[in-house]
Amino acid sequence: MEQHDIVIIGGGFAGLSLAKFLAEKNLDVVLLEEHDGFFRKACGEGVGTHFKNYDFLDLYGSKKGIEREVQGIEIRTKYGKAFFNAPLFVVDKRQVEEEFARQAQRLGADIRMKEKVRAIIPGDHIMIQPQGISARIVVGADGVFSLVRKTMGQDKPPSAVGISGITSTLEREKDRCYLEYDNSVIEYGYTWFFPKKDTWNIGIGSLHPHGMKDSFHQFKAQYTAAEWKGGYGPISKPLTLSQNNLFLVGDSGAQIRSTIGAGNLTSIISAHILAETLGRYAKSNFRTIQGEDYASTWDRVLGKVLRREYYITSLMKKLQTNEYLLHLCITNLARITSTYISHQS
Ligand SMILES: Cc1cc2nc3c(=O)[nH]c(=O)nc-3n(C[C@H](O)[C@H](O)[C@H](O)COP(=O)(O)OP(=O)(O)OC[C@H]3O[C@@H](n4cnc5c(N)ncnc54)[C@H](O)[C@@H]3O)c2cc1C
Repeated sequence: MEQHDIVIIGGGFAGLSLAKFLAEKNLDVVLLEEHDGFFRKACGEGVGTHFKNYDFLDLYGSKKGIEREVQGIEIRTKYGKAFFNAPLFVVDKRQVEEEFARQAQRLGADIRMKEKVRAIIPGDHIMIQPQGISARIVVGADGVFSLVRKTMGQDKPPSAVGISGITSTLEREKDRCYLEYDNSVIEYGYTWFFPKKDTWNIGIGSLHPHGMKDSFHQFKAQYTAAEWKGGYGPISKPLTLSQNNLFLVGDSGAQIRSTIGAGNLTSIISAHILAETLGRYAKSNFRTIQGEDYASTWDRVLGKVLRREYYITSLMKKLQTNEYLLHLCITNLARITSTYISHQS
């Protein structure tokens, strides 16, 4: 039987960056991804440039796939505009995922495509089926419908749904991203317009799947895109991140900024924190696993902020039927967040 120290399930930002960080520590790591290519689901492709002491470019170690840097997000409602001062890159996400994979492989990680995991049998040595691999540690980087999370006995968190596409024609300033709240277009959600190099990533998302079909048809009639992709993202408080030798990272653990549905940078930072923890266990040949180590460091760095964002999102959901109150909430949030971010950086 094939045996490994660490098996990562899922090749999105969380899994691929974790594979790279673990390979940098010379650890024995295998990543299993069910598709034969990367980046199959919807995403706005925005990535925060930094959070606290974490810098995306340092973590990524490349500039490949970075198409544009903007200073923040302009939020529009019927009653006006607010500006979130939150610098971000708009990327070609497929290229960034491919580059993470390339770096991880160069450092010795074994990345296997077209490997869908169907069963995980917990134990001191975890069995992964149908691959027939035995692992000391299994990490679920397998997204919002995580099998690893299910194996840990946790339910799927409440999720938002979104559809994105790439369009070339849009007359707007390309120095910022745009989010638009308008109940006549989409209820309990927003449309987004993110400038790429020569094109725009546009999309529509909602906390409620009901009504999404009609809203998307209206949106699609207004904007053309060669291809539309759908996807779900968790909108929830972060979940329990470890159980014995099973760990969660990224969307599987709901490590997401609920207010704007942003999980790209938080997934990578979470992967870095997990890699540091697993690196320490490796020194004792994984005999002294304390899953809480990961959870407590993670909570200090990200957990408190992400929980607060979740409570704000719950409030916004309640306010969204009254668009004026929502506007006041967003304007104040923009002010608080901008102050918060400038204190952090
Ligand atoms: C519509 C939409 C727009 C978004 N826009 C933004 C944005 O602009 N900026 C931002 O920061 N965040 C955005 N997000 C959130 C962001 O996309 C996610 O938080 C981020 O992709 C999480 O990465 P991940 O690696 O945890 O999950 P994923 O990217 O979902 O990766 C999970 C991987 O696991 C694989 N997998 C699943 N099950 C198995 C299995 N059983 N066996 C093998 N492989 C498996 C999947 O194929 C997939 O490749 C958006 C989300 C949505 C839905």
